[in-house]
Amino acid sequence: PQPDPQLGAAVSAADRAHVFHSWSAQELIAPLAVAGAEGSYFWDYEGNRYLDFTSGLVYTNIGYQHPKVVAAIQEQAATMTTFAPAFALEARSEAARLIAERTPGDLDKIFFTNGGAEAVENATRMARLHTGRPKVLSAYRSYHGGTAAAINLTGDPRRWPSDNGSAGVVRFWAPFLYRSPFHSENEVQECERALQHLEDTLVFEGPGTIAAIILETVPGTAGIMTPPPGYLAGVRELCDRYGIVFILDEVMAGFGRTGAWFAVDHFDGVVPDLMTFAKGVNSGYVPLGGVAISGAVAETFAKRPYPGGLTYSGHPLACAAAVATINVMAEEGVVEHAARMGADVIGPGLRDLAERHPSVGEVRGLGMFWALELVRDRETREPLVPYNASGEANAPMAAFAAAAKENGLWPFVNMNRTHVVPPCNISEAEAKDGLAALDAALDAADAHVA
Ligand code: PLP
Repeated sequence: PQPDPQLGAAVSAADRAHVFHSWSAQELIAPLAVAGAEGSYFWDYEGNRYLDFTSGLVYTNIGYQHPKVVAAIQEQAATMTTFAPAFALEARSEAARLIAERTPGDLDKIFFTNGGAEAVENATRMARLHTGRPKVLSAYRSYHGGTAAAINLTGDPRRWPSDNGSAGVVRFWAPFLYRSPFHSENEVQECERALQHLEDTLVFEGPGTIAAIILETVPGTAGIMTPPPGYLAGVRELCDRYGIVFILDEVMAGFGRTGAWFAVDHFDGVVPDLMTFAKGVNSGYVPLGGVAISGAVAETFAKRPYPGGLTYSGHPLACAAAVATINVMAEEGVVEHAARMGADVIGPGLRDLAERHPSVGEVRGLGMFWALELVRDRETREPLVPYNASGEANAPMAAFAAAAKENGLWPFVNMNRTHVVPPCNISEAEAKDGLAALDAALDAADAHVA
């Protein structure tokens, strides 16, 4: 496409005049005006093209503008653009069936929402009603969404300005060996100590007051920390012992991101009672999220109405996009591709960068879900920027991000980390280009190593 700086300037001017952006001081931002996107790339009106190592907000698992999904949305729009939630519709039924076929165990009923936060809101509501108990336990290193209940379950500092006194929420430490809250020296210790800490928390809170434990299967925004073997099985066992609903949040980790349909598939035999999803379910082409519900929780609402709903629950356009996306992922082997690329290209490529860049403290991840922990000092593991830094204090990470963009790579940056989370169907050549751009950008981070 031809660059069109004049149109770009008009887009930016109207944005600055009228669009109020998420999580931002409105006068301190300058959103890039984006003219288009395709596959793993997007471009601006000046003619600059970027390889998207963020998948938007970690959701375009099949990349931008997949022609089959675009066609399915167009077809659905031509036949039934919208219809109210209380009816049975082909696109909705088929989306629910395709999702339920892939979720583990008996998670066979799907409540559709417009996104991840609403899925978390409804999952915790279901758990409270199912158990008749008030409290939910969540991890400090977590993100569960921006609405009232979801932000209070979130551990990340974005909660602080909206914290409602954390009514009904108790937070705990989940395992994270690199910055172990339990001063563990290996994964076995970390797993044991994290489970003991969780059980102590339950016992002192009063198990009879706890409706649910919610965890991201592999925490995403908080740093992509795959739990040690045995941890999720241990949480499952604690939930069973104390009659607590186990909620896994797969909003970011689900639908191929980890090289499996769901991240929980990596943990043999673990089945939550409720599982939230969004993002990759239809690569965000039309907003969609939901809760997959076990037989026991569904039974609670078999004869008694579920007191929750949304005008656009199971919106046909969003569901048609999900049907097409899931079918494309199956036909094109996107999940297997993500697993292979993680194991053979991205993982080894990032470990190679770590060997050559002293600012890389740790490489961790799986599938298309990786984090580089950037540090000032590998021995002390002092983060490259302090927790929740902004302005001058965040300058080293800002310099890294700017250098990546100069090299044609759009990086995901959160605190002292960069996450490598490209579309799950990125080609090997594209991934290697991205790794080369990261290599150059890491020099900017190395400049701040003590
Ligand atoms: N849960 C997790 C694990 C997420 O990563 C997110 C978003 O990043 C959410 C919930 C919230 O989803 P949404 O922004 O669609 O409301």
